[in-house]
This record gives sequence, C-alpha cells and structure tokens, in this order.
Amino acid sequence: MKKALLFFGLMSWAALSAQILAPGDLRCEYKENPLGIDVPRPRLSWKWRVAQGERDVMQGAYRIQAAAEREDLEAARNLLWDSGILESGASVHVPWGGPSLRSRQRVWWRVKVWDRQGRSSPWSAPAFWEMALLDTAEWTAQWISPDLPEKEKEYNPPPHLRREFDLHGPVRRARLYITAHGVYEAHINGRRVGEDLFTPGWTSYPHRLQYQTYDVTELLQQGRNAIGVILGDGWYRGRFGFADEWNIYGTQVALLCQLEVVYENGLREIFGSDPYWRCATGPIRMSGIYDGETYDARLEMPGWSRPGFDDRRWAPVRVVQHSKSRLLAQEGLPVRRILELKPKAILTTPRGETVVDMGQNMVGWVRLKVRGNRGDTVTLHHAEVLDKEGNFYTANLRAAKQQVRYVLKGSGEEVFEPHFTFQGFRYVKVEGFPGTLRPENITGIVIHSDMEHTGRFSCSDSLVNQLQLNIEWGQRGNFLDVPTDCPQRDERMGWTGDAQAFAPTACFNFNTAAFYTKWLADLAADQEPNGSVPFVVPDVLNQNGSTGWADAATIIPWTLYRKYADRRLLERQYPSMKAWVGYLDELAGPDRLVQDGFHFGDWLFFIHPTNWNDKPGYTDIDFIATAFFAHSTDLVRRSAEVLGKTEEAARYARLFEEIKAAFQREFVTPSGRLSPHSQTAYTLALAFGLLTPEQEPAAVEYLVQNIRRRGNHLSTGFLGTPLLCHVLSAHGRTDVAYDLLFQTTYPSWLYPVTKGATTIWERWDGIKPDGSFQTPRMNSFNHYAYGAVGEWMYQAVAGIREDPERPGYRHIRLQPEPGTRLQHARAEYESLYGRIACGWKRRNDSLFVQVEIPPNTSATLT
Ligand code: BGC
Repeated sequence: MKKALLFFGLMSWAALSAQILAPGDLRCEYKENPLGIDVPRPRLSWKWRVAQGERDVMQGAYRIQAAAEREDLEAARNLLWDSGILESGASVHVPWGGPSLRSRQRVWWRVKVWDRQGRSSPWSAPAFWEMALLDTAEWTAQWISPDLPEKEKEYNPPPHLRREFDLHGPVRRARLYITAHGVYEAHINGRRVGEDLFTPGWTSYPHRLQYQTYDVTELLQQGRNAIGVILGDGWYRGRFGFADEWNIYGTQVALLCQLEVVYENGLREIFGSDPYWRCATGPIRMSGIYDGETYDARLEMPGWSRPGFDDRRWAPVRVVQHSKSRLLAQEGLPVRRILELKPKAILTTPRGETVVDMGQNMVGWVRLKVRGNRGDTVTLHHAEVLDKEGNFYTANLRAAKQQVRYVLKGSGEEVFEPHFTFQGFRYVKVEGFPGTLRPENITGIVIHSDMEHTGRFSCSDSLVNQLQLNIEWGQRGNFLDVPTDCPQRDERMGWTGDAQAFAPTACFNFNTAAFYTKWLADLAADQEPNGSVPFVVPDVLNQNGSTGWADAATIIPWTLYRKYADRRLLERQYPSMKAWVGYLDELAGPDRLVQDGFHFGDWLFFIHPTNWNDKPGYTDIDFIATAFFAHSTDLVRRSAEVLGKTEEAARYARLFEEIKAAFQREFVTPSGRLSPHSQTAYTLALAFGLLTPEQEPAAVEYLVQNIRRRGNHLSTGFLGTPLLCHVLSAHGRTDVAYDLLFQTTYPSWLYPVTKGATTIWERWDGIKPDGSFQTPRMNSFNHYAYGAVGEWMYQAVAGIREDPERPGYRHIRLQPEPGTRLQHARAEYESLYGRIACGWKRRNDSLFVQVEIPPNTSATLT
C-alpha cells in the first residue's frame, strides 16, 4: 500500500438543520412492543435519527414520558412517569424509572432527545410494552392432561383439546396466556393464535417454563366461542436424546392456559383450562422432533376449534398437579417461519429415486401441495447430501428418521405442513406422489428463532462470500430456541462448547441478546450445586464439567457485555460464572493445574488422514483445561470490575496470576516453546494472556512456523479454531491469517466451499477429497462451530470492532486490515445505536476507506 486515502463518506454530515429528527426503533428489553414482560424494571432503548449530512451528533439529554393510554401519552396527561429532562448520553438500556409495574399493565411510552448543543428532537412515535402475570397467584387456570389411552416409549398422536365459552358483550381487549408440557398450537374460532412455533420453547423445564401472551381480541366474537389446542411432544416427551431415550421430562403432555377478556363496560372475565375441556386425537398420528410426522388428512375434524362442533364422543381431561411457580413470561425470541425456498432442481438419482434439490442446506420443513385420491400416501425423506454416485444419503442422520408422511383426503388441492417436528436437509426424496412432481409442489419453509438480521459482510472473493453465507445459514439452522450443535441427526441439543465458540460471530450476524439471555438462565438453572456446568443446556444428558464447554458460563455473558453492553445480564449471570470457576478451583487444588475430570479437548482437531502417528493437531487435555480455567477466572475478574466488586476482582486477579505461573512452570519452556507444540496450544496461550511479554514473540513465531510447515493449513479443532486468526492479527500476522482464510485444500474453511457446501460442516473433511464421506457416526453438514471465523472477518477484514472499555459499540474501533488478495471488503452492522459500516477498496495505488457510524457513538479509525 503506497498511499492511504481516508474518505469519510457517510460520516460527513454538515450541521445545517436546526432540528433533530425524532428518535426511532424504540425497544423494551430488546423487543419491539412486546406483550408479556415480567422484568420488574424493564430497560428501554431508542435510536437517534439524523438528517442527511449531519455529523458528530451526541446525545446530551433525554426525556421519557409514559402513560397507560396512548391518547393520554400524546396529550401528555395522566402520565405514569415523566422522567423530566435528564442530562445523560444513555440511549440504550435505560431502566424504567416510574412506579412499580403491575400485572397486565400496558405502558405507552415515548422519548425526546437533545444533542450536546441543546437542540431538541420532536417526541418519538409512541411505543408500548405490556406486563405479564407477575404473581403465581394470578394463574387461576388449572393444569389439564388429556384422559386418553396412551403408550409409553412409543409415539402417541398429539391430542386436540377444546372448550366453548360465551361472551356476554362487546370485548375491549383479550389476552391469552398459555403454556404446555410439550409444545402447543392454539386456535380460537378456527383461527391460529399467533405465528410462533414450538411454543412454549425449550427451557430447563424442572426450573423454568415459559408462557406466551397473545392479543386475541380480534379472534373473539360476541356470543359463543371456542378455543382449541393441539399438544405435541416437543422436547418434553417422545423420543429425544441418545440411545433410544424416551420421555425425558415426563410421560404426559399437559396444558395451562388462561383467556382473559375485558369487556367494553370494564368487567373482566377469565376462561382458564379446567376440567370441562374435552379431548381427542386427530389427523396427526405422530410428530417427533427427530423422526418427523405422519398425518392422515382423512381424520381431519373440520371445525374442531369453532363453536358448535360436536365433541360428545370426545374424551374428558384430567386436572393434574404441576407447579406454577416455575412459570416465566417469554424471555427468548419466538421461533417462526422466516424464509421460503423454491426447489432448484428435481432429480432422478442413479438408484431411480425422485429427489428435490432445495439448493441450500436448510432447517424447517417442506410445504407440500398435492392432488390425488383419498388414501394416496406421499412420503418425504430428508437428507443433507447426495453420495458420490449421486444417490440419496441418510446414514449420517443416525437414528433420526426425518420422515414426513401425508395421507390424502382426496379433495382437490391439499396443502400440508408438519406441526411439531423439523428437518435439516437440502434434498427431499419424494415417494408415492400422485402424478408428476413439479417444483410448485414443494416449498422449503425455513424456520428459526426470529432474530433481527444485523450483520452483513462481503468482499471481492466469491469463495469467502460463500463462506459468510454458510456461516449465516449455520446460524439460521441452529438457532432454534436454543443454540444447537446440529439440526438433523438424533442430537439437536444445546451443546455448550459449540455455543461459546460461535457466540461472538452470532452476535454480528443477528441480534442474539434476548436469545442468549434466556439460554444463559437455563444454563445457570441446570448448573450443579458444585458449580459444574452441563455438556448440554437444557441438560438432558446428565453429564457436566468439560472445560471449553462449560466455559460458556463465563464466555457468553462476557461476549454479550462486549457486544450489547448488557451489564444487567452480567450481574444476573455473575453467581453462575463464579460457581464454575469455583468448581475448577476445587478440581485443580493448590497446584492450580486442572488434571482431573473429563474434558472433550480440542474436539475434531486435524488428524492426518492416513498417517495416524502424525497427530499434529493434538493438544493435551490438561493444558487446555488449565488454560480455560485461567481464562474463565480472568473473565470473572473483568466482570467483577464492571460490577464494582473491587475486592472480588482483586481476588480473581490473584488467582489468575497463580494459574498463569503454574501454567508456565508446567507447559512453557524457557525459550517460549510450548508443550504441547500444537497450533491450538499457542493460540490458547496467546489469546488468554498466559505468556510473559518476553515469551510472546517466540510463541507467535512457533505458531506461524507450524502453519507454514503445514503449507498454510490449520490443524485446530473446536477450541483453537475460533481464536486462531484473532491471535495472529493481534500479533501483527494478519498476513498468515489471510493465508489460512484463502486456503482451499483440506483442512481449511474454504475446502468445504469448494465441495459445494452451503452451510458449515462439523468436520473439516465431512466430504473427503475423493468424494467419500467421513464416518456416518458423526458427520453433520450443519454445525456452526467452525463458522466462528466470522467474527474475525467482520473485525479484521472489514474492520468493525467493539471497544471493551466502552462496550456495546458506544465507542467503535474501525480498523480494517486489507489483505493483498482482496480488492475490496465491507461489513455493515446494525448495533443498538444504529448502523455501523466499514468498507475499503483498492483503486490504482490507493486504498479508499468508507465508514459510517450511528449518532451518539464515537469511533477511532486506524
Ligand atoms: C456434538 C458436538 C459436541 C460434541 C461434544 C457432538 O456429538 O455434535 O458438537 O460439542 O459432541 O464433544
């Protein structure tokens, strides 16, 4: 680079207009106009908006007003809270400062801002949130279970439950509060309630069970009404877990719901689940997360959730005693239908199978459109890949069937989507289709937690761009209420190691704050009394304590603090973070080395395909365990500092120094060589600050040599990979990181891309160079962990970095490190303050850098 020309394109707004625009994008606990908040003092955020050309705008003050009615708020009368003009730059996470909030309370609010020169904005448009049920005693409804003959250790048809009720006048507003053991789909008067899927979601059920709140005013009518609910197994019961495990949480599904109606005259009436409901099985013959669904349309019960349906032959329900004290309002993000994909091709395989190629490894299901005779049966099988010969391949799904069967009723065009199951697939093998299968018969429905898409990255290299898409799709496929390892085989669990590896990247691509807020509470809930953290959360394996996995307890809260400045979350998780470090402290004992316990280690590191004696990637387990002990201790120390716990911070600082000294004695030679001598060893030691400043240069050199010796290939697994490029960049070797990024032969990030991957693979060689597969026992083609390089692409290639001193992008570090093989690169990130963009391009001998930062933030461009 001869000459660097900095071009502050979009940042140069001239201070012309006298007025500031009204703030927008008002949020309550990260959500837009949420119903059902049970946080006692919810936090409010807004974004500044400025006229084109304005620059250097910082908030000098704000004023919040809130009222129970929108009209009152707009007229500024009967206010619940008027903050007055507060001199403050805070526009993110401003806690409610009005009087204590009551159950069901609707709060309308608006905000007005001033810049530091005293210019004011108009009031924002009003936004609202509504409080949920804050006291268990508000639940007057009873838990009910269907009284139907059912089998254990087999799939049972999801029961339909129904009840009718009368409304005696015009309704002003109505809310449905609802949850289940299992998963539910609710209908009122023949219409689906809400658009959320897999509700009430997956949590640590013995401790925490979410309920949802829906505004159902529009679904009701005066006079007779009906409510109907279908209960699926979900994660609660049915087959879930390894080794043919059944009924993890219980053998019976159950429903708890409460419809609350406020009439125009102000009177309130509650219709809760009670002994007078009726139940029956219907067209869904089975529906299981791993195994798919069987649906017999001939058994449909038209009108079952409308009034007047004859349910005299339906069975009664039983009132059951389940606790209500573990109920909490929806905390995470609802799972929804997000995208629809059209088939790319319909193939006939060498074996003669009819296979639809969706063109993308996706998660969700197929919407089937079909015409045929009553009793015709269409079976859909789902697979991620075709084998070398081009045949349909399902061995890597292990015991998960992923099979959807639809039995036609024979009445014109029939459109079907399954209910309580999802499939991970790119290819669909179709059997029994009446007539000729055409693309319009199949639509791919992509589902995931409804996260705001906040990050975009692109550059001049098409393979790297595909890698970015694969990372994004890995996230779409594995953010299904909990962060899962994979979405297709008989696993789909909240593996903690995978989650911590990917979290920093996840936070760029999508806003995951609320998603992880929920999951981290489950992590803490499922933590052992001795502080150990499960392998998977929610804990369905009853195994715990692996370093690199359990450290999700410290790493993810800290990541959310870096990315969203979520101090309250850090405070909430702090006891859990400390407990995990306390557990390791016990395990290590006075010598400060973690040498006991089971640890996965640098999972799936590179092993030479033919020479088993060559274990270049291997890193000793006690080395890794001790390194993570140090790192988690360090994160607890930093968190203690943020939370103002000075003494504790000092204690953890001392502990860190002791671990570091022990680590040095045990694993570092005087020349700075590490034993083990692997890439992951150097990466962890450097990333976690375990070397002295004198030792660091030698360690960096050893790491670089190792990579060079392997022909610019990495040899790292789940734990080393996320940090490898960061460490190289932090020590001035971004050139080496680029060499790794551009590597297209195995093992590398781009190798799968050259093999046609559309998601991130579990293994560097899921498909080997000769086209054969890795072992079917563990070969997922949709595993996000190795996608953790994404954070480095945003930070180093494009140049958007947070500043830990002023987290949440209050201050932004813009520091692209242009690689010589790229002509341009650019990333955009929608932060809580608004859009940050950083991009660069080469033209002739010049480098143009274009940046954009949102109002009320500052940035340093390097
Ligand atoms: C999962 C992982 C997980 C690992 C634990 C695998 O079966 O798919 O991604 O982290 O087990 O080693």
